[in-house]
Amino acid sequence: MNIALIAHDQKKNDLVQFVTAYQSIFAKHNLFATGTTGMRISEATGLTITRYKSGPLGGDQEIGAMIAKNQMDAIFFFRDPLTAQPHEPDVSALIRLCDVYSIPLATNMGTAELLIRGLDEGLLDWRNIARENDENNGR
Ligand code: PGA
Repeated sequence: MNIALIAHDQKKNDLVQFVTAYQSIFAKHNLFATGTTGMRISEATGLTITRYKSGPLGGDQEIGAMIAKNQMDAIFFFRDPLTAQPHEPDVSALIRLCDVYSIPLATNMGTAELLIRGLDEGLLDWRNIARENDENNGR
């Protein structure tokens, strides 16, 4: 599965802790992240992560583009609901695209626990079919 990891500054420690706790599961998948989040997680865990630009510089939009192309299977996006973000429109756009394409999105630790455990138990295997269908239809 292709998994995206994004955390706003006040939530980066939480996401680093979360990925560290579930490192053995994350290690089985292809990981993508916005710039700073990806750097923090790879430094802490040693996991290989494809890093895009920092969120405010377009990283959220790069991950959004992967969603639109049906190339992303799950998103862990630890948002900070208490701090104004300069790239709020990009944040909304990313969340919107998850809803457009029914891509599982965890925006906080509570849901993230369910998503990573469900993913490990195979509850997201339907994503393989969804991706194969698109590939067979030349999309
Ligand atoms: P960052 O971007 O990982 O580069 O900090 C995340 C964001 O703020 O959207």
